[in-house]
Amino acid sequence: MSHNRQVKLASRPQPGLFQRQNFTIENTPIPSLGEGEILIRVEVISLDPAMRGWVNDGKSYVPPVAIGEVMRAYAAGIVEKSNHPKFAVGDAVQGLLGVQQYAISNGRGLVKLDLEKAPIERWVGGLGMPGWTAYFGLLEVGQPKEGETVVVSAASGAVGSLVGQIAKIKGCRAVGIAGGPEKCAFLTDELGFDAAVDYKAGNLAADLKAACPDGIDVDFENVGGDILDTVLAQMNVFGRIALCGLISGYTASEAPPGPKNIRAVLTQRLRMQGLIVFDWAKRIPEAIEQLGTWHHEGRLKMREDVQVGGVDAFPDVVNMLYTGANNGKLVLKV
Ligand code: NDP
Repeated sequence: MSHNRQVKLASRPQPGLFQRQNFTIENTPIPSLGEGEILIRVEVISLDPAMRGWVNDGKSYVPPVAIGEVMRAYAAGIVEKSNHPKFAVGDAVQGLLGVQQYAISNGRGLVKLDLEKAPIERWVGGLGMPGWTAYFGLLEVGQPKEGETVVVSAASGAVGSLVGQIAKIKGCRAVGIAGGPEKCAFLTDELGFDAAVDYKAGNLAADLKAACPDGIDVDFENVGGDILDTVLAQMNVFGRIALCGLISGYTASEAPPGPKNIRAVLTQRLRMQGLIVFDWAKRIPEAIEQLGTWHHEGRLKMREDVQVGGVDAFPDVVNMLYTGANNGKLVLKV
């Protein structure tokens, strides 16, 4: 361990995908540890759609990454040195460690990981932040009831794949919207969704109607745009829309137009609520426990798409999220 390789934000991207020149990648010395600090060797970096928003200037739920700052990222790794009473050398941890090979932390916000229960990449996937998002977002905001129809978009991804499976566990009809026949087959054949709709096939409204003959009670919205609009038109009275993400607009040059079918919120008396996973920060242990139990029982399958190339590959690999090239939770191995 002679240096730390770090990916820093060099410029704010123009609309569209991340460009290599938006980042500088440099070797820096690893500073010595202060009192109460730990040194973590990062093993896997979680690539999250929100990264595209974190680098934009403007009001959001967190401040933007500053120019020159290490790119913000959830990551998991192993404690290599510790001046902290609660962390020992060899402990596995996850938290906001950044796109870099080594991170120094004072322990705040770190979650300890049990690598006997699951491999480290799963702790930034189904047992990590995307899993907590699916769990709290569906159950607390979507409030699905047995027999209801739950629709989820970006359904084959990290969050969506769990949302549909949790809906099934709760006795609902689970319908996923995803891009392409392979992703749709994965939902029905591997994960047990009742139906899957390929939004790229060109008949979204008709295909969704066929998949949801009794209408839609809960929409777990990950995409926005035309998909949200189409779903809105098929919502049942007193339906709930858990607004988790709007990925179809993350790389757009201008804000997408508002939903044409917003009238459905009025006529069907819908409730649409945004969610940010950290509103449930105090309940993360509950989510880990429940998700882990379902996973162990074989009722909740988790899939990671682990990419190699180390931190240098970050600017290219992260774009897979916005083109749909990932199959499952996108993770970069350091
Ligand atoms: P995924 O693993 O689902 O990967 C992103 C997927 O989004 C792609 O594979 C692609 O799937 C789909 N996608 C990308 N662009 C478009 C588009 N233009 N139209 C339709 N689908 C598109 O990512 P995550 O599970 O990590 O995240 C899913 C959503 O959840 C995101 O919107 C994210 O911002 C949100 N999120 C919100 C959180 C919160 O606290 N509110 C926390 C975590 C995630 P396909 O091939 O099917 O098109």
